[in-house]
Amino acid sequence: MSHTDRSELMDKIVSLCKRRGFIFQDSEIYGGQNGFWDYGPLGTELKRNVRDAWWQDMISRHDPLDAPEGAPAAFQMVGVETTIIMNPQVWKCSGHYDLFVDKMVDCKVAKKRYRHDHVNGRWIIGKRKSKEGETDPVRVFVTAVGEMPEITAQALAFFGLKKKYADRLEWEGEVISLTEIPVEEYSSVVGPDATEAGTLTEPRDFNLMFKTIIGALGTEDDTAYLRPETAQGIFVNFKNVVDSSRVKLPLGICQVGKSFRNEITPRNFTFRSREFEQMEIEFFCTPSESQEWYTYWRNRRYAWYIGLGIDKENLILREHHPEELAHYSCGTADIEYAFPFLSKGEYGELEGVAHRGDFDLRSHMEGKLKIGDDGELEVELNEHGQPKYRGSGKDLSYFDDQTRERFIPHVIEPSAGADRATLAFICEAYYEDEAPDDKGNMKTRVVMKFHPRIAPIKAAVFPLVKKDGHPEKAKEVYRSLKAAGINVAYDAQGAIGRRYRRQDEIGTPWCITIDGDTIENGTVTIRDRDSLEQVKVKVEDVTAEIQRRLNE
Ligand code: ATP
Repeated sequence: MSHTDRSELMDKIVSLCKRRGFIFQDSEIYGGQNGFWDYGPLGTELKRNVRDAWWQDMISRHDPLDAPEGAPAAFQMVGVETTIIMNPQVWKCSGHYDLFVDKMVDCKVAKKRYRHDHVNGRWIIGKRKSKEGETDPVRVFVTAVGEMPEITAQALAFFGLKKKYADRLEWEGEVISLTEIPVEEYSSVVGPDATEAGTLTEPRDFNLMFKTIIGALGTEDDTAYLRPETAQGIFVNFKNVVDSSRVKLPLGICQVGKSFRNEITPRNFTFRSREFEQMEIEFFCTPSESQEWYTYWRNRRYAWYIGLGIDKENLILREHHPEELAHYSCGTADIEYAFPFLSKGEYGELEGVAHRGDFDLRSHMEGKLKIGDDGELEVELNEHGQPKYRGSGKDLSYFDDQTRERFIPHVIEPSAGADRATLAFICEAYYEDEAPDDKGNMKTRVVMKFHPRIAPIKAAVFPLVKKDGHPEKAKEVYRSLKAAGINVAYDAQGAIGRRYRRQDEIGTPWCITIDGDTIENGTVTIRDRDSLEQVKVKVEDVTAEIQRRLNE
């Protein structure tokens, strides 16, 4: 698929999301808000199903009595729900207060701010055309927050050329990130929204945590932060959970909840939002076994997406190079999806699985850590030789009563984004084919091929006509499915083909039609969204049949 096809596909997906009530721009009637998104009725069901599938697979259906396939041992999994605003000391010790920064550059003229590593560009030489004539050739680095199509548009605008002259542009080298351009050369850089070169500032640090104030006084001492990740709520409760729950290591503590990051350049629909939801596991284990657990979680989390319908072709497990790793990490892998808003061959992160060693628990015991001269972690000191940020001073070590050993557990962290997963499932589900309409004419049919477990609506019930006892029987079937807790729709409007299409477009796996046969022989027709196969089932068996298919 070419870049244009991919971006056209993305446009279709975004428009379907709005038209059918999956995702809306936040506060849309006031013009929206960059980086914030709302979920409509179907999107809410879909995202809830994604979250529920994660919670069921990781916690409620987890069997702690035996080692699951591929796991080094049996283990326990429990959940917590912690606050969004935590004691600010948490963020000082975790490193977020000092280090949770992105480099940004400002455009002095366009009054815009960009994430340094999101700006791409390409060197180009050309004469600028205007009403006054042509300039001498200039060599500039033309940029965009995006890729080649956007950079080309920016270059055409800069040189005063019409779109049809795009092939006259004299490019030099390939597209590279602005991060590769030395600051001394910024006078030749044309910012993504600038009309002249040299308007970008040097890159500066920008902390991504949203600030807020606790209490009525509103002094600087009352400053607090909206959590940028749910993980820290788990670490600070590690001891509480172990002391209160009769759990033993290896142990996973899980949390689902909102996180907030003041992203400099939110973009790509919900992919990079400022408010989003995370599904995080902190898996605590013995240091000597941590490498094995890391491999286990990396593979298991990758398989989770495949099991819910993501094609292996579109999902990669990317092991970080040693130089990419955070200083405390012995291994990190990203699970990445080929989102259609990216170029072919590019992938966007759905989940990071990180081996974090004992970094987090130690930081909350001793204070903020840094790498010492000997390469080991040590407490960072201030100019008076005291810890820069004091830890809790609490003992967060674990005593293994079988080996009689006390140690600070190592942590494996599979950290997923609920919104990114939902978006990946939406992109993966989108499918177009040709099918005959009610008059027998071939028409494009849009089908969202969601895995039945995450489909917002599982089944739809159609009375063929609004008479002859069809509606009465249809309501009976509908209510029986509802009573079984199955999310089911009822549609009596329009030709049957139109009703099928409406359900196909929102990904309902099964449509159940009540017709003359139902009244005469007591059977209904169940039609499958993907195979289009139709089977007859007895009215009294419909609910059990749908339940069976859902559990398949
Ligand atoms: P990125 O490099 O894309 O900014 P990250 O590596 O900072 O992501 P993590 O800190 O590892 O992300 O967060 C874990 C998960 O949380 C990500 O894999 C992603 O699914 C989700 N996530 C992080 N930032 C955002 C965001 N701005 N919008 C939506 N989801 C996000």
